Amino acid sequence: MTSGAGHERLEEPLARAVGERTAATLSKLGLTTVGDLLRHYPRRYGKPGEFTDIRSLRTGEHVTVMAEVRSATVRTMRSRGGAMLEAIVSDGRDTLQLTFFAKRAGVLRMHEDKLRAGRTGLFTGTVGEYRGKRQLTHPDYLIVGVDAADADEAIYEALRPIPIYPAAASAPTWRIARAVRTVLDPLQEEDVPDPIPLEIREREGFPTLREALRLKHEPEHMDDVARADKRLKYEEALVLQTALARRRAEHAALSAVARPPRAGGLVDALDARLPFYLTAGQRTVGAEIARDLAANVPMLRLLQGDVGAGKTVVALRAMLQVVDAGGQAALLAPTEVLAAQHVRALRALLGPLGEGGMLGGADNATRVVLVTGSQGSKERRAALAEAAGGAAGIVVGTHALLSETVQFADLGLVVVDEQHRFGVEQRDALRSRGARPPHMLVMTATPIPRTVAMTVFGDLETSVLAERPAGRAQTVTHLVPAGNPVWVDRTWARVREEVDKGGRAYVVCARIDPSEEPDAVDDFEADDRLELEPAKDRPPLAAATEVAATLAERPELAGVRVGLMHGRLSADEKDAAMARFASGETPVLVSTTVIEVGVDVPEATAMVILDADRFGISQLHQLRGRVGRSTAPGVCLLVTYTEEGTLAYERLAALVATTDGFELAEKDLELRREGDVLGSGQSGRSSLRLLRVVRDAALIAKARDDAREVIAGDPTLDDHPALASAIREWLGEDQEQFLERA
Ligand code: ADP
Ligand code: MG
Repeated sequence: MTSGAGHERLEEPLARAVGERTAATLSKLGLTTVGDLLRHYPRRYGKPGEFTDIRSLRTGEHVTVMAEVRSATVRTMRSRGGAMLEAIVSDGRDTLQLTFFAKRAGVLRMHEDKLRAGRTGLFTGTVGEYRGKRQLTHPDYLIVGVDAADADEAIYEALRPIPIYPAAASAPTWRIARAVRTVLDPLQEEDVPDPIPLEIREREGFPTLREALRLKHEPEHMDDVARADKRLKYEEALVLQTALARRRAEHAALSAVARPPRAGGLVDALDARLPFYLTAGQRTVGAEIARDLAANVPMLRLLQGDVGAGKTVVALRAMLQVVDAGGQAALLAPTEVLAAQHVRALRALLGPLGEGGMLGGADNATRVVLVTGSQGSKERRAALAEAAGGAAGIVVGTHALLSETVQFADLGLVVVDEQHRFGVEQRDALRSRGARPPHMLVMTATPIPRTVAMTVFGDLETSVLAERPAGRAQTVTHLVPAGNPVWVDRTWARVREEVDKGGRAYVVCARIDPSEEPDAVDDFEADDRLELEPAKDRPPLAAATEVAATLAERPELAGVRVGLMHGRLSADEKDAAMARFASGETPVLVSTTVIEVGVDVPEATAMVILDADRFGISQLHQLRGRVGRSTAPGVCLLVTYTEEGTLAYERLAALVATTDGFELAEKDLELRREGDVLGSGQSGRSSLRLLRVVRDAALIAKARDDAREVIAGDPTLDDHPALASAIREWLGEDQEQFLERA
C-alpha cells in the first residue's frame, strides 16, 4: 500500500519543524512529529470575557487560569533583600495572587509592564497557599492581545476563543499553540491527505482535514470548533470501522472446515441427560452457532450473557457438535482456577459422555483434558498426548493453550471465555494455528452496550443470552458504612446466618497483604483503579491474609472455618481452597478478585466486599454474580468508607439500584473515562480522541455503514491510500502484521 503523497510533511520530526528546543519541550507530551502536534487538540477554549472560576481551583493542582489583572506592584524586600512583584488577578468575584521574586527590582519591571490592570491573561502554574490566600508563584503567562503585531490584530486576537491545550509544566498551553501555528499555517491541502473519501465529505458537508485542523486549533468562533469536531469525530469512527470492516471481509474470505450437526451424536445425547430444560435464549443462540459451524466460513461470534445466564452449556453443545463432526474443540479460560472449574463443570454435565475409553463411558464418548502452565510435567504430557492424538475432544486451558507446543489432531473450534481478558492479538494467534482457521466463539459476561460492541467488536457477529434460567433467585445489594460499628457487626452476623442455613460466603479484599499494593491482577483492573479518587483519612485497605486471620475471632463467626484464596497461591493451593469452600469445609472464603470471573459455587449466597469503592462497576457486578446462583436468594454487602456525593459512592449506589448488567454498563460508561471502557489493548493509542461511544452512537453507526461500502468497493483500500494509512497508524505496527497475515 502506498502512503498518501503529502504524508511526508506530517511525518516530519518536530525538531526540524519548530526547532530543537521547542521540540524537546513537546516531546514531554509524547509529541514527536508534525502530525502528532496537529492531533494534539485543545482540551477546551478560553472564551473572551469568560474567566476561570478561581474558587474552584484546588491547592496543588497545575492549572491554566484566564483572569483579569487588577494590580501589579514591585516591592523590595527589606528583610531578605531582593525584590518581589505581587499581582492580583480576578475572575470578577474571587482573586488569585501571582508572585515573582528576583534579586533586583529591575528584572521585575518587564512583568509589571505587561501585567497592567484591566488586561486579560492566561496564567499557568501550580496553585499554592500563602497566609490563607491562593497564589501562583512564578507563573508562566500570556497577556491576550499584547503579543500581536498591531492594535487591530490585538483586538481581533482578544475576541477569538483561546485554545487551551493539555499541557505540562514545561510546555504551557500558549507555547503549544505557537508551535501549532508554526506548523499549521504553511500547510497546503496536498500536505494533509484526507482519510475521509471525497463523496462522503461532500455528502456530509465536512471540511477537509486541513481545514478542520485549522478550525480546531485557530477558531474564530466556537461554531468553527463544533464544525471541526463533527468531522474529526466522524473521521475517527470511519477509520476504526473501516479497519473492522476489512478484518471482517478478510475473515469471510477464509475457508474453514464445515462441522454440521449430526443426529444421534453427542449433542443429542447431552440434551437428553441435562438436568434442566434449555431456556429459549440458549436454544436460539445454540441454533445460530450450529448454523455458523455448519458453514465453511470460519465462525467469529461473540456470545454475551450476564453472569449466570448459562453460557457454559451453550459452549459445550457447540463443542460437541464439532466433536460429532470429527473435530476437536479448545476452551480458553482467563485463569487456571477457571480452567479447572470448567473441566469439572463440563465433566459433570457430560457424565459418561465425557468418559471416552474408560470403563462405564458411553460408546461414542469423548474426553475432556486440562492443559495449564503450572501442572506437573507427567500430567501435562498425558494431556498433550490426548490433544495431539485426538482422544480428547475437548481441551481446556489458560492461554498456555496458545503455545506452539500444544498440538491438536484436528482443531475445529476455539471457545474463549470472558473475552475482556483476551486481546485481538491473542484471538489472531489462535486463529492462525493450523492450516485452516478454526471456528471461534468468544464469550463474555461483561455486558457490552451495543454501542461499544459496535466500536470495538465490530468484526464479530454477536449473540445475546438475555434471560437467566428460571427459578434463579435475585441478589439483594446493600451499602454498609465501614465507619459504623453497628452495621459492620450486623454484616458479619448476616454472614453467620447464611452459613447456618447451609450457604457460603465470599469476603473480597482489595489486596493480599497489609504491606502490599492493591492486588492488581492485570492491566484491566489496574486501569479500573486508576481513576478512583484517593480517599483522605481512611484506614488502610483490608488485606486478605489479615482479614482471614482475624475474622474467625469475631464473636459472630465463632466456630466457623475461614478459607483464604489469592493470586499468589499455586494453582494446586487455589484448587484446594476452592474445593474446601465448595464442599462447605470452609464456608467462608476470604479472597482477592481472583474469584471475579466465572467461579461457580451454587451454594454461595453471601458476598461481603470490603473497600468496595476500590473496584469498578463492572468488576463489582462480576463479583456479585458469584452469589445467588441457585434458588436461594443472595445478598451482597458493599462495605465502604466513601461518602455520599462522591463519584465512588454514585458507582456503588448504581449497583444497589439494579442488577441489570447492561444498565450498569451504560452507567459505567457515563462515569468512567472512555479509554478504560475500551480496555487497555485498544485505547492506549491515538484511537479515540474525540469520539464518545455512547453519545456518538448514531455517528458510529453511519460510519460503519460507510465503511462497509468502502470496503465492498475497494477491499484492499488501494484507492483510499489516506484512509489506509490512517488505519495503519491507528492499529500500530504489531496489529497490522496480524491483519496482513490473516
Ligand atoms: P455463566 O453464563 O455465568 O457462565 P453458567 O454457564 O456457569 O453461567 O451457568 C450458571 C448455572 O446455571 C450453572 O450451575 C448451570 O448449570 C445452570 N444452568 C444453565 N442453564 C440452565 C437452564 N437452562 N436451567 C437451569 N439452570 C441452568
Ligand atoms: Mg461462565
